[in-house]
Amino acid sequence: MTSLIDPFGRAISYLRLSVTDRCDFRCTYCMAEHMQFLPKRDLLTLEELDRLCTAFVGLGLRKLRITGGEPLVRKDIMMLFRALSRHLASGALEELTLTTNGSQLARFAPELADCGVRRVNVSLDTLDAAKFSEITRWGRLAQVLDGINAARSAGLRVKINVVALKGFNESELFDLVEWCAAEDHDLTFIEVMPMGEFGDAVRRNQYWPLSALRAQLSERYTLTPLTERTGGPASYVRLAESGQKIGFITPLTHNFCESCNRVRVTCTGEMFMCLGQEDVADLRAPLRASADDAALLAAIRAAIARKPKGHDFDYSRTQVTGTMRRTMSHTGG
Ligand code: SAM
Ligand code: SF4
Repeated sequence: MTSLIDPFGRAISYLRLSVTDRCDFRCTYCMAEHMQFLPKRDLLTLEELDRLCTAFVGLGLRKLRITGGEPLVRKDIMMLFRALSRHLASGALEELTLTTNGSQLARFAPELADCGVRRVNVSLDTLDAAKFSEITRWGRLAQVLDGINAARSAGLRVKINVVALKGFNESELFDLVEWCAAEDHDLTFIEVMPMGEFGDAVRRNQYWPLSALRAQLSERYTLTPLTERTGGPASYVRLAESGQKIGFITPLTHNFCESCNRVRVTCTGEMFMCLGQEDVADLRAPLRASADDAALLAAIRAAIARKPKGHDFDYSRTQVTGTMRRTMSHTGG
């Protein structure tokens, strides 16, 4: 049981750790084409990342998700997975997973499986190769599909994450659902969040509320809402016709903060207690100040003690409020 309890009584048992701000794609809703990345010296080393995760595990963390940027482009990233796998082996950690764009999965899937990873989330917003190149700017669909196949061959369960984008993948809703059913992948839709400096008009034009997506889905399928929660922000429905379970992450149309069990740490050791708030705690300074973990543990506890109640994202008709200037690739999606 975690010893990390926030002021609202929520047990914090889940860390999303961004290991790099870099990426081999430039998804239009996530990054500018010419990004200024952080100097390498600002990044936590792999040893520091391991020490940080181990401190969280000591405090009762049960689930760890590695993300980015693109986690699999970080040099020698498998050393971190290998090191962290000891916490799975000891039973201290229940789950080690990652969120990836899939571009490097063909290379790394077998080793990830060997390190105890059982599930992987792959972001894939379209099955059309030309549209895939358009939305990711630098990505190639075939490479990602190869990666997904490699993950399955290695025994990993795959969840496809689709960001719902008005005018972009609306027309592919049923194709995506059917493809996931045929391939036996789990599927979750995500509402586009106002992260990064893209301008309110851009965001409002992109926003396809999942309430509308769900209504469209119910024109073809019988949806049964599932009461189960996985401790995460998704709510689920079962499609009677295919038996599929579909997730919806709806920060805008339905606020999920009351069940939040997570915190995020960036690749520079900034700890965000909420994706949608500015408050941040620096874990790099205590990590580097001493080889002893006392200051680090105190910093983590102090940060949890000020976890806010929730985010303030809102798309009203005239303005987008609650916008975060930092991008998702910075905070770690
Ligand atoms: N590069 C990896 C990937 O794409 O899966 C991991 C990092 S990425 C920032 C994590 C997730 O955030 C992806 O599923 C991506 O689609 C999503 N994302 C990025 N910007 C977003 C935004 N503004 N709103 C909602 N989701 C976003
Ligand atoms: Fe890279 Fe993931 Fe952001 Fe796309 S969503 S640019 S793959 S970090």
